[in-house]
Amino acid sequence: MKELSEIAFNTWKEHTDLIFEENSSNYDIIISNKRRLHRKESSGQHYCPKRFDGKSGVLAHANYPNSNNDVVEIHMDQDEDWYFEIDTNTPKEKINFYAVLVHEIGHTLGIPHSAENTSIMYPLYNSSNIELSKDDILVVQSLYGKPVVGDDDDEEDEETDDEEKDLDPPELCKLNNKIKNFLIVDQVLYIYYEKWVWIMDLDNLDVRTKPQLISDWLTFLPKGFNNITAAYQRPSGDVILFIDNKLYIMEIPSFRLKFGYPTSLTSLSLRKNVILHSAVNTYSGKSFIFFDDVYYVEIDECKGISKKYGRITKEFSGIPPGIESSFRYTNGLLYFIKDKTFYEYSEFTNSVLRAGKFYLSLFGIDCSKSTSKMLDIISNLKESLNQLENFN
Ligand SMILES: [Zn+2]
Ligand SMILES: [Zn+2]
Repeated sequence: MKELSEIAFNTWKEHTDLIFEENSSNYDIIISNKRRLHRKESSGQHYCPKRFDGKSGVLAHANYPNSNNDVVEIHMDQDEDWYFEIDTNTPKEKINFYAVLVHEIGHTLGIPHSAENTSIMYPLYNSSNIELSKDDILVVQSLYGKPVVGDDDDEEDEETDDEEKDLDPPELCKLNNKIKNFLIVDQVLYIYYEKWVWIMDLDNLDVRTKPQLISDWLTFLPKGFNNITAAYQRPSGDVILFIDNKLYIMEIPSFRLKFGYPTSLTSLSLRKNVILHSAVNTYSGKSFIFFDDVYYVEIDECKGISKKYGRITKEFSGIPPGIESSFRYTNGLLYFIKDKTFYEYSEFTNSVLRAGKFYLSLFGIDCSKSTSKMLDIISNLKESLNQLENFN
């Protein structure tokens, strides 16, 4: 038994940077056998509100880790006719203990159910499924990192170009397709780029609008913050901001920081040093965070925790990995941007409706009228006139 649980833990351990240690006096995870209603006899600090239903049906349950670092428990239903070998030859009338235990350990590591039936985290028991799927490995690595191996090739090449950015406000139309971050709250469009934000009424998109310093707009931000990585508005109205790998919740319309924030990304079951790219809330109210180029996590907005992990290309048909930004426009469609290309996506048909080169004009921001453009035209004219003169 002991050996079996050790192997079950190792199954998760071997793909990550985690270490599990058996320690009967100082523990984070407890495994025990329970039957029927077992509230009070729980061996940990908490009583168990769930019950077992005798043979078959519910096989086991476990809780998720929480931010208090409470002990998490795995309860295995004692009334099951368990099979204790680690192979796929489980007799029909028995239940593979190992397969169930690996699944429950997954929960104690913070991994929710998977919709993929090859996943060990698939909610339905399958005696022939006793190994982690590729996606299981990706998910646990997204939470706890990859196993540390000798060479640290690409880990440490974080950009160190901390050049003091010019504090002259940039011109919107000059940046044009370099811009990719948008947020719309109550018919107001917020375009943010590095330290700057342009705030415009959607009914009156004036390209001459001067940007503000984001730090003047959101005074709760820490000094020296770099940029807003991602933002979206929750169905409840609050705005979620991801800044320097911290989670901020801002109350609307006061734009004040909600009490208790910012928090670490681990509160969303993401590892601290995950590379976030963007986040979006869809018309139907689903919130997605895109990270590490190819993955997404869907957030349960009621509970404020992660609900489902997966590959972007699987959930959003036609959207390439490596997207840099995403947002929902007032037409209810989602826009993804990668390499200055936009993808207009409908969550209802689950398809890309159109794609092309991204320019601000996509949202009716007409840079042809901008003063800078006019000045460009005038200077071009002058140049041609000069050339004409030289010609004579
Ligand atoms: Zn229980
Ligand atoms: Zn489960």
